[in-house]
Amino acid sequence: MSLSDVVLAAHGVGVRFGGFTALQDASVAFRRGAITGVVGPNGAGKSTLFNILSGRVRPTSGAVLYKGEDITRLPGHARARRGLTRTFQISRELGGLTVLENLLLATPGHPGEGLVGGLFGGRAARAAEEQARVDARGLLERVGLWRLADASASALSGGQKKLLELCRALMLRPEMILLDEPAAGVNPVLIGEVADFIRVLQSEGVSFGIVEHNMDLIAALCDPIYVLAEGRVLLEGSFEAISANEAVIEAYLGG
Ligand code: ADP
Ligand code: MG
Repeated sequence: MSLSDVVLAAHGVGVRFGGFTALQDASVAFRRGAITGVVGPNGAGKSTLFNILSGRVRPTSGAVLYKGEDITRLPGHARARRGLTRTFQISRELGGLTVLENLLLATPGHPGEGLVGGLFGGRAARAAEEQARVDARGLLERVGLWRLADASASALSGGQKKLLELCRALMLRPEMILLDEPAAGVNPVLIGEVADFIRVLQSEGVSFGIVEHNMDLIAALCDPIYVLAEGRVLLEGSFEAISANEAVIEAYLGG
């Protein structure tokens, strides 16, 4: 893999919480245009790895590189502005707001900043808000949620909340998205729709990293796949390769 093929990488990252080592010397590379999987038993460090890559957790060792730039010390919002966004294992919709409002609040210079925009931005701020509304409608139509645009986000099903979360990440027009368990709590039909949408986005040039327990989804979408166990990267390979690997079988079945 040549360096320019890699959009996002962790080099030997580790983190300790108190005396507990959640992640140790982990190196992963996300290829441009690929959907890279991350699997492993509960507590393996998968969400922690995504937290480090997205800027929520500062590693105690190692470095994170995005498009060749060392972003280890860059806060999450600055990474998002550069095109690196994420979704969370537990959906973070704002239940008190409508579906549409949830998307508008995800953009920089969103209408929630309207006072500032009105005082200092004027026409430019209004144009940005108008663009955000167009983008939000387009995304909601694509995932079949436009008819629920004015519904409270808290009224959505688990799967619809996951789709809303993905749309919020997409409002920033990312180049790379990290999805933490996009299929968890989602009904099988909707999982299929989420998978289709991810594939379409991939064809449009978006790169993905996906943490997921649903092995059908991993097998259908991801190559390569990293296997984590007890805070370490065990190996990387195709679905066929990792599912035949003794160490992987041991990590899932052994104690
Ligand atoms: P996974 O997503 O693979 O299930 P996590 O990355 O969430 O695992 O967690 C890995 C380990 O680190 C777990 O034992 C978890 O309890 C611990 N951990 C994660 N975040 C924290 C934190 N902020 N403080 C203390 N321990 C944490
Ligand atoms: Mg997790």
